[in-house]
Amino acid sequence: MQNVAIVTGGGRGIGAETSRLLALKGYKVCVNYVVDAYSAEQVVGSIKARGGDAFSFKADVSNETEVQAMFDAVAQSYGTVTHLVNNAGVLFTQSRLHEIKIERFKTVLNTNVVSCFLCCKAFIKQATSAGAIVNVSSAASRTGAPFEYIDYAASKGAMDALTKGLSLELAERQIRVNGVRPGCIYTDMHADGGEPDRVDRLASQIPLKRGGTAEEVAQAITWLLSEEASYVTGSFIDIAGGN
Ligand code: NAP
Repeated sequence: MQNVAIVTGGGRGIGAETSRLLALKGYKVCVNYVVDAYSAEQVVGSIKARGGDAFSFKADVSNETEVQAMFDAVAQSYGTVTHLVNNAGVLFTQSRLHEIKIERFKTVLNTNVVSCFLCCKAFIKQATSAGAIVNVSSAASRTGAPFEYIDYAASKGAMDALTKGLSLELAERQIRVNGVRPGCIYTDMHADGGEPDRVDRLASQIPLKRGGTAEEVAQAITWLLSEEASYVTGSFIDIAGGN
């Protein structure tokens, strides 16, 4: 069976590197985005230039109708989705909990966890055989991200629980569900938190003494999706330089 993957938030950062790596390994890839069509098209272009097969699809993955439209579009172009990477995520300006407004809290939970729930649900509905899901959580689910973004950390903690529970629900169907927990990775996300150079500031506190790259995270995601990880489910890989 042809490997067909959806990578949510696949146009930038960790999602972009994951889309590229999966395509190199022969997957047909749906590169999802919500705002940045240009970046998603760049990823698709680079995949096609190397002989791969991909298309971009605009969908807000916290919206059930748009998620279903994305799965329908992939079904039409490639057939059953066999692999899913729940990577889309947001965080906002570094704040203490008492400064976070309820609207922001709900947006973070919707974008980071409700999206994962909706995409997993759509995936399960159409799955016909063995497959795999990787949820992109964060080291913040372990640290709680105090003074920065507890809302974001809470969303990633919920994602970890969803990953564990779903792995057990789907084990009998030979669908594996795992998570990755990146630490400080060089992407645009830190600018959204109000500190573009955050990774450099924290590098000396990381045991490996540097930030990570999106490609290093993509390698772990791709491995978890692959047959090389055929006996791995309900597991998490920390990609945080030792933190
Ligand atoms: P990024 O460069 O800011 O990319 C975020 C991606 O999420 C973008 O492609 C964006 O789409 C997409 N997105 C946001 N809201 C969406 C929505 N409602 N529907 C569909 N797509 C949506 O961030 P990144 O660092 O690569 O983050 C990827 C994942 O890694 C996130 O889940 C993040 O929490 C996790 N992570 C990152 C780090 C780190 O240090 N960078 C550490 C731990 C975990 P557009 O391109 O259209 O805007």
